[in-house]
Amino acid sequence: MIRLDRVVTLSFAASRRSDTRLSGRIPVLMYHGISHDEDTGRHPYYRTVTSPQVFEKQMAHLHRSGYSTIGVHQIRREVEGPAESAQLVSITFDDGYHDFYVHAFPVLKKYGFTATVFLPSQFIAHQRRQFRGRECMTWNEVRELKESGISFGSHTVTHPQLRELDASDVKSEVSGSKCSIEQELGAPVDSFAYPYAFPEEDTEFKGRLRGILADAGYTCGVCTSVGRVTKQSDPYFMRRLPVNSCDDIRLFDAKLRGAYDWVSHPQKWAKSVKSWLR
Ligand SMILES: [Zn+2]
Repeated sequence: MIRLDRVVTLSFAASRRSDTRLSGRIPVLMYHGISHDEDTGRHPYYRTVTSPQVFEKQMAHLHRSGYSTIGVHQIRREVEGPAESAQLVSITFDDGYHDFYVHAFPVLKKYGFTATVFLPSQFIAHQRRQFRGRECMTWNEVRELKESGISFGSHTVTHPQLRELDASDVKSEVSGSKCSIEQELGAPVDSFAYPYAFPEEDTEFKGRLRGILADAGYTCGVCTSVGRVTKQSDPYFMRRLPVNSCDDIRLFDAKLRGAYDWVSHPQKWAKSVKSWLR
């Protein structure tokens, strides 16, 4: 499969120096499943599963490169603070899969890293449930991770296409999930991750959703738009860098250093980026 995004990114990375350090831009990595059961039938750009071996290599690279990790709720403060702070990265996981508990957490712990996990609250229960054919964590596991320093955010209740819902349903998805997680963890939930592809171009919808999130008590959030976070970023829809098993260390490092940020342009301009990349 031809990967235009990879070819362009690596040529960008080769042609310029690292701008991660001292640049006021924080990379936020977006993971979903960490599993041996990979989604290899799709184009690498659309895959969401990372094998435990590749994940271990990526975390070892962050550690070797001197990165410190911060939770999503801490990004804003860091990006607005003095620019001489250390190399920072935020690591996020969507969908609350059980494989985070099994495969990702032990590796994060080994390197002293933290992460933020976004839960679709309907699929997290006292008995194990499944979301899209993959097992999710239970509340007991979520509580155990919370006590070990992992942060949790909301990923709605049922993981719907929020743009297709009316305002009252959006409100209940956004605040229902926050309430459930807060009740189970006994701690406030500040962050939100938008499910599915983020409608970057729909400013009217974004404005409405930002208001609903703020009213519900959220202070920050992330989405699927590609890029790193800057002082100018919308705190409710911070960009992320998608990662999967196809990110060998060369591509992974190029993404961290900003060589993948160009993807935000075709992503925003053209919904047809899908066919373009193929
Ligand atoms: Zn999701």
